Amino acid sequence: MNDAPHSHNPTQSPLPLLFPELPEAIPLAPVRMVNEVVYCPRLAYLEWVQGEFADNADVIEGRQVHRRVDQGKPLPRDGEDEEERIHARSVWLGSRRLGITGKLDLVEGEGQRVTPVDYKRGKRPHVERGAYDPERVQVCAQGLLLREHGYLCDEGILYFAGSKERVRVLFDDELVAQTKMAISELRGIALGSLTPPPLEDSPKCPRCSLVGICLPDEVGYLKGGHIAPRPLYVQQETAVPLYVQDGGAYLRKSGEQIIIEIEKEKVAQARLPEVSQIAIFGRARLSTPLLTECMQRGIAVTYLSQGGWFLGHTVGIGHNNIDTRIHQFKAAADERICLRLAKTLVAAKIANCRTLIRRNWSGSDAELDPLLLQLDVDRRKADNAIAQENLLGIEGNAALKYFRAFTGMLRVGEEAMGAFDFQDRNRRPPKDPLNALLSLTYAMLTREWTVALSAVGLDPMLGFYHKPRFGRPALALDLMEPFRPLIADSVVITVINNGEIKPSDFIQGRGSCALKPGGRKAVIAAFERRMGHEITHPVFGYRIGYRRLLVVQARLLARFLAGEIPDFPQILTR
Ligand code: SF4
Repeated sequence: MNDAPHSHNPTQSPLPLLFPELPEAIPLAPVRMVNEVVYCPRLAYLEWVQGEFADNADVIEGRQVHRRVDQGKPLPRDGEDEEERIHARSVWLGSRRLGITGKLDLVEGEGQRVTPVDYKRGKRPHVERGAYDPERVQVCAQGLLLREHGYLCDEGILYFAGSKERVRVLFDDELVAQTKMAISELRGIALGSLTPPPLEDSPKCPRCSLVGICLPDEVGYLKGGHIAPRPLYVQQETAVPLYVQDGGAYLRKSGEQIIIEIEKEKVAQARLPEVSQIAIFGRARLSTPLLTECMQRGIAVTYLSQGGWFLGHTVGIGHNNIDTRIHQFKAAADERICLRLAKTLVAAKIANCRTLIRRNWSGSDAELDPLLLQLDVDRRKADNAIAQENLLGIEGNAALKYFRAFTGMLRVGEEAMGAFDFQDRNRRPPKDPLNALLSLTYAMLTREWTVALSAVGLDPMLGFYHKPRFGRPALALDLMEPFRPLIADSVVITVINNGEIKPSDFIQGRGSCALKPGGRKAVIAAFERRMGHEITHPVFGYRIGYRRLLVVQARLLARFLAGEIPDFPQILTR
C-alpha cells in the first residue's frame, strides 16, 4: 500500500469540492475530526483548533482497539483468500485538496479496488443504516482519501470490536455529499475564528470526553439559557494530590505505581491515575522516569519549602491551546477588563469574609452587627471602584477589619486564645501561630490555583489585579481572593476549634514562627478535607466539591476571556 499510485484513476472524476486546495501553511485535519464535526462541531473545534484533549473510558477503550489493529492482533475475515488481497494496516494518507489526513486502520482489496476498514469500540448499534452518521461519514472520508490517491473505493467497513461484527457502508451520493459537507465545515471551523456554541441539553454531552473542558450546560446557562446545568463534569472522579513531607523521601515509578522510599525501604505507594499532583516539601527527590511520566500525564509536580512556601512547579511541554493565552494577554493589557475583573474578585472576597464571620462569630451581636455592616459597605465600594488604586485601598481597609475580628471566630480556652491572639497579618516569616497557619494555607491555595490555571491553558503569572512580579503567580493570587475565606481561613478556624492544632505544634524563635511536622500534617489533612468538601454551586445549583470548583472557575475565566460568556461568575456563599 505504501507504493500507492499518486495519479488519479481516469475512471474516476475529480471530486467536486466546495473548497480550494489547502495552503501549505495550514495543517491537514485528522480524518477522526470529520467524525467529530458531525457528532458536534464544538468538539471538533475544541480538539482540532484549541488542541484540547481529555481521556474518558470511551477514549481509552477506543485507543486500545486501534492499538490491537496496529499490532496485527485478531482481524476480521470474510472468507476470501488473504494472499490475493491487499491487506494493509495503519496506512497513512493525506490530501491537501481534501484538507484531511489520517491513519486508516486497515485497507483491504484487490488491484485498484479497495475497502477501508475502520475499527470501533463497542457493539454495533441497531440503527437503520447499520451505524451512526459520524462513523459512516468518517469511513467515507477515508474512502475519499483513497480515491484521491487513485484507488477505486465504493464502500467501507465498520468493524465493531464489542460484538465482532462488520457493517458495510456504501459510499452513495448522499453519503459522499454529507462527508464533503462535513469536511467543508471542519475547514471552516479551522480557518475561522468563531467558536461553535455548545449543544443544548444534548444526550451526547454526558458521554463526551471533553464535557469538563466544554462545560456545555454552564456556558449555555451563562449565555442566557434557561435550562439548569446538569452536573455532568462534577460527577466524574477526581484524583487527589500526593503530599511528600519527609525530606529523605525518594519517589520512583514502577508500572502504574508511584513508590515512595525512605532509606531504600518502601514506605508507601500510590496509583498514578489517582494522583492529581505531587507536592514535595523540602528536599524530597523523585526519579527522572517518574518526572517524565508525570509530565506526559499532566500531573503537576509542585515544590514547597519545608515551611510550606510555594516555590514552583514542573509541568509538561505546556498546553496546546495558545488561543487561551492570547486572549488572556490581550485582556491583561486592557485596563477596563482588568478593573472589571478585579472589582468582582475583591467584592466577592469581602462578601465571603463577611459570611465566614457571620457564621463563626463567637462574640456578641453588639460587636458583630456593626462589623457586618462595615464589611457590606466595603463590598459595595469595591463593586463601584473606579480605579485599581481605589480598590487596593478598599481591600486593605476591609482586610484590617476582618483580621482584627479573626480571633472572634475561635472557640478555644483562655490559654490557647492567648497563643493564637493576633492583630493583623504578617508574613515572610510569619511571627505568630495564627499567621503561620494562614501563610501555610494561603501557600497551599496558591499552589492549587497555579496548577488549575496551568491545566486549562492560562498563564498563572499574568494577573488582572495583582501585578506581575518575579516569582509571583499573579493570576493565581487574583483568582484565589474569593476563596481565601472559603478554603484557607476556614481550614485555620477548623483546625484550631477542633483542637487538631495546639499552641505546642509551633516552634518559635528569632522573630519567626513555624509549624512542627506533625502540625503541618494535620493542616494538610484538614486542607484536603476542605478541598473535597461539597457545596451547592451558587450559580448552577448542583453539588460540587471545592477541588472541582476551582477548575470550573478557571475554565469559565478562559471562556469569559474568549468572549464566549458575558460575565465571569463569582462564588459567593450564603
Ligand atoms: S460536551 Fe457536548 S457540546 Fe461540548 S463538545 Fe462535547 S458534545 Fe459538544
